[in-house]
Amino acid sequence: MKKLYRNLVNIPGAPSFERHVKGYMRQEMQKHTNTIIEDKLGSIFGVLNENSDGPRVMMAGHMDEVGGMVTGITKEGLVKMISLGGMKGDVYLSQHMIIYTDELDEIPGITASKPPHLTKGKKEDTVKFDELLLDVGADSKEHAEELGVKIGQQVISKNDFVVTKDGKKFIAKAWDDRIGCGMALELLEAMKNEQLDCSLYAGATVQEEVGLRGAATAAGLVKPDIFLAVDASPCADSFGGDEISGKLNEGFLMRFYDPNAIMHRGMKDYIEKLADKHNIKYQYYQSKGGTDAARIQLAESGVLVATIGMPARYIHSTTSMIHENDYKAVKAMLFTLVKSFNKDTYEQIKSNV
Ligand SMILES: [Zn+2]
Repeated sequence: MKKLYRNLVNIPGAPSFERHVKGYMRQEMQKHTNTIIEDKLGSIFGVLNENSDGPRVMMAGHMDEVGGMVTGITKEGLVKMISLGGMKGDVYLSQHMIIYTDELDEIPGITASKPPHLTKGKKEDTVKFDELLLDVGADSKEHAEELGVKIGQQVISKNDFVVTKDGKKFIAKAWDDRIGCGMALELLEAMKNEQLDCSLYAGATVQEEVGLRGAATAAGLVKPDIFLAVDASPCADSFGGDEISGKLNEGFLMRFYDPNAIMHRGMKDYIEKLADKHNIKYQYYQSKGGTDAARIQLAESGVLVATIGMPARYIHSTTSMIHENDYKAVKAMLFTLVKSFNKDTYEQIKSNV
């Protein structure tokens, strides 16, 4: 796995705080194309083969990760937060989190939790993330302010990239969805020397975790015919699971259904055949969530969309795990698809509804 993924997952970037992820994306995109476009909310795309008369193909990950936002400081100096994205409070008890200033100065802290000594004999309620208090070691509200804490700052889990002992799995925060951001960069690198029969807009959106907001404006910018989301989705395999709930090392996720997007019949048919032809491993996946594909399918008069899902354990928590072989399957499917798109294949998919 390329070093760029390690760089990407370690950058903090809660929804609306994607600036530093975007800076990295731009720096890497510049190695592959001179045409880089951005919308007004911050989504960014590298463009290849812009003047093609084939279909406009858009591919995106999302730059934001779940995180907190500072909403206040108690008089004792504890920091109040709200969640940006879906997060369970219990998972964040007694965790090392960092408040980032705009310049990425770090104010480290730990989420307050009561040790068993203090709760013996008492019934404990589940905790909502928004009820957690972050202890940055301040002695008072004024002290916290002196340390640099300000309302509106982002709060991100401290969890750097590590490789498991067998060398095949990668643990990091923000696989959801820096894996998609890295794929966009790898796609630009791989396609810049290919003879594409489509125009390609590969990049990443903002604010996916708070309701697919960046996808709406990015679609307005690119006006795609086809959109491929690459996004991490949770696996249930370490909790029993079943054949449509996602497993590590079983290939990319063919997301045939989620409550916001039923996979386009022509697209499903096309991807299945192409994956089988090229021996790319995939698994069917049903989700209760949504990806940028759900929003973009409704742009203009409709867009042919698919999510090439990356199986990931434990996302929307302090950290997560992916498998090297699934990464390879996602990449193979993405590259194969983009190379296959032309006027004819687009018409073939579009008419198969
Ligand atoms: Zn995601």
